[in-house]
Amino acid sequence: MMVLVFIDQADGHVKKASYEVLSYGAKVAEQLGTTAEGVVLGAVAADQLSALGKYGVKKIHHVANDTLNHFDAQVFTNVIAQVAQAAGSKVIIFSNNVDGKAIAPRLSARLKAGLVPGAVALPDTANGFTVKKNVFSGKAFANLTINSDIKIITLNPNSYQVVEGSGSAEVVPFNATVNAPKVKIKAVNKASGEVPLSEAEVVVSGGRGLKGPDNWGLIENLAHALGAATACSRPVADEHWRPHHEHVGQTGLTIAPNLYIAVGISGAIQHLAGVNRSKVIVVINKDPEAPFFKAADYGIVGDAFEVIPKITEAVKKLKGMA
Ligand SMILES: Cc1cc2nc3c(=O)[nH]c(=O)nc-3n(C[C@H](O)[C@H](O)[C@H](O)COP(=O)(O)OP(=O)(O)OC[C@H]3O[C@@H](n4cnc5c(N)ncnc54)[C@H](O)[C@@H]3O)c2cc1C
Repeated sequence: MMVLVFIDQADGHVKKASYEVLSYGAKVAEQLGTTAEGVVLGAVAADQLSALGKYGVKKIHHVANDTLNHFDAQVFTNVIAQVAQAAGSKVIIFSNNVDGKAIAPRLSARLKAGLVPGAVALPDTANGFTVKKNVFSGKAFANLTINSDIKIITLNPNSYQVVEGSGSAEVVPFNATVNAPKVKIKAVNKASGEVPLSEAEVVVSGGRGLKGPDNWGLIENLAHALGAATACSRPVADEHWRPHHEHVGQTGLTIAPNLYIAVGISGAIQHLAGVNRSKVIVVINKDPEAPFFKAADYGIVGDAFEVIPKITEAVKKLKGMA
């Protein structure tokens, strides 16, 4: 029962989330008494691929077709299905990120495989195959048993510790049939110089308490000093103070950085749903009764316009940037 792990890459670089799913996949394989293998689509340097062996996979199936340098869920699903069938994979694991969320349900339909999206722990394989996941915006857990022959899991980011050992993986080119994408990418406009929100270790996030887009320099300066990504609450994006790709919460991105700093955000349940898996939450709000304080590890009751410049200055001093 081989475990297959999808390894996400962008511009030829393996994404951070992949190290986590590789470590997780290796452990699942160990539990099942089998081996874990990886699949990579698109151009990635051979030395980067073999180095993935440090995370517990023995073999990497590499489909180096130029069409796969740009993500297309339908094309990727078709190729991964071919690899999974050729390798005889019984458990297929993705990160529960944008790519994993797009591929896993399609693959599940294609392979008639049971799927648990958003796993938060290793499956219980002692008696069947039961996967734990968050439900009701993180208010409860559900344990779901997959009974199908092939099983698919998407792992919530930051749910499993990366385990880095030694060793290298055998890289095997896989000759897949790659369909022409039905959607044509005309241009990719990237926000340069910013830390991608989904990959960020530290996030500084602003809400309606910031009063307007002209005040976002406060958030950006602190984020710059910390090497952090910026995020926002939904009303902030709805009012076009910030772009929608920065909106976190139930209807936006789900993130789990090591440090989440919420400035002028009330802490509505829909917002918390996107950030409550952050390792440390710091809340800055002038209202001591703001609900966010209940979810905070550290809180500052104060006016953001006074507190944030002081924190930024202190961080810069600490880092020798002042
Ligand atoms: C179906 C549904 C889905 C939703 N999905 C999302 C979602 O994905 N993400 C999301 O964020 N919201 C979502 N919402 C909206 C959510 O319910 C809240 O309305 C929203 O999160 C509030 O945003 P906010 O905290 O920025 O604004 P507010 O609720 O207006 O809070 C502003 C906060 O700033 C504080 N403040 C004001 N001035 C200052 C100051 N000078 N210094 C410090 N603090 C100050 C105030 O005390 C207050 O706590 C959803 C709602 C629904 C119904």
